Amino acid sequence: MSKTRERGGAERCTFCEKVRAQVESLIAGPPGIYICNECVDICNSILHEEDRRVQRVEDDSPSGDFSCPVPRQLVARLDEYVYGQEKAKKVLAVSVYNHYKRIQGDAFTNHPELKNVELEKSNVLLVGPTGSGKTLLARTLAKVLDVPFAIADATTLTEAGYVGEDVENILLKLLHACEFDVDQAQRGIIYIDEIDKIARTTQNVSITRDVSGEGVQQALLKILEGTVADVPPQGGRKHPEQSCIHLDTTGILFICGGTFSGIEEIIGRRVGMGNIGFHGEEHEDDLKNAAIDLTDREKLMPFLTTKDLIEFGLIPEFVGRLPVHVNLHELSIQDLVHILVEPRNALVKQYQAYFVLEGHELEFTKEALEVISKLAHERKTGVRALRSIIEDVLHELMYRLPDFTSPARFVISGEMIRNGNAKVLLAGLDGDSGDQRETA
Ligand code: ADP
Repeated sequence: MSKTRERGGAERCTFCEKVRAQVESLIAGPPGIYICNECVDICNSILHEEDRRVQRVEDDSPSGDFSCPVPRQLVARLDEYVYGQEKAKKVLAVSVYNHYKRIQGDAFTNHPELKNVELEKSNVLLVGPTGSGKTLLARTLAKVLDVPFAIADATTLTEAGYVGEDVENILLKLLHACEFDVDQAQRGIIYIDEIDKIARTTQNVSITRDVSGEGVQQALLKILEGTVADVPPQGGRKHPEQSCIHLDTTGILFICGGTFSGIEEIIGRRVGMGNIGFHGEEHEDDLKNAAIDLTDREKLMPFLTTKDLIEFGLIPEFVGRLPVHVNLHELSIQDLVHILVEPRNALVKQYQAYFVLEGHELEFTKEALEVISKLAHERKTGVRALRSIIEDVLHELMYRLPDFTSPARFVISGEMIRNGNAKVLLAGLDGDSGDQRETA
């Protein structure tokens, strides 16, 4: 006899063990297996909840109305445009996700036990060499989230009373980006570049700006922290009679970026004295095992702490408003090769598209890609140099491209890159078939 029938011989639900008399209906399965209507209902609601969860993930919406993809999805979207920098993407994705959770009002009403908890704003500091993708990351985040985005240059900002831009003008740029829709602007992203250049240092002396840079940091504190700012709609200096737009900066995510050249010396000195610091703890073993070269910036950057930023010249209150630090590493030659071909807007894809529009094909040999990347790497401007190298090589060919009457396939070799031109491919135009160009 089956287990279900054993207890008193009555037919029971295999799940809740209620007998037929206790439920409305009991559905029979394989011999001896039953399920009651109540358990069917429970299963249905579990499946329904599961469906809703999957739907939310597919909709990029974690919960409620405000739609911010979960960190894993954010990273996947960033991957489409930004190659590498894996750790930076993850840290950024988590802090952006938390930021939008924080400003999402009902996140707290749904959790009464959190009513006395105040989450602090987590603006982000991106530290990495020129061309490593700081601006690209910030811009792509805004694109993925579909929020307004503005870029400001910290070196053009001044504290009130000096020649230059008021910090409120940064907010004006954001308002411009969304046609003065205040609600949208209030959850936008602002990228402030060259933040290291407003460090408090005697080397930064400028006659037009406050001598130390400290004044600009002070001026930025309030908007970074969250305040209702008065933004003059025409830009320029505020004056008392002017009517201003009131913009609450609490929900605006500020991402500041800088190269912080020389900060490795500060970190190296501290680490050399055996003071690894909180952020470095996870790398402590690396440090002991590998005996890190104390002048190697790439190796030292993971040990960056708040203290180093203060010693570099950021004032403690300012560092306090940028609690999330993200390191971007210098791109290697191999990274540049990938960047040339992989992202959605990869340079090679873009040039190939121009050729296709003219009815032709363009190809780069593997060697050509490596030579381009090597030359760009030597120029130390990251990805920026890639475009100018390709442009130099292709400009003559692109100029003559409409003159090629029959469809052709152009193959760019390493040799052409080294020579700085692809003139050999033009030979066909002068009656020579050109041995490197093939008729498609
Ligand atoms: P940064 O702000 O760090 O100086 P940018 O973000 O302005 O650098 O990058 C310069 C150029 O290089 C941009 O055109 C950007 O698209 C490209 N770039 C930089 N890093 C990457 C990367 N990791 N993946 C793809 N493109 C990149």
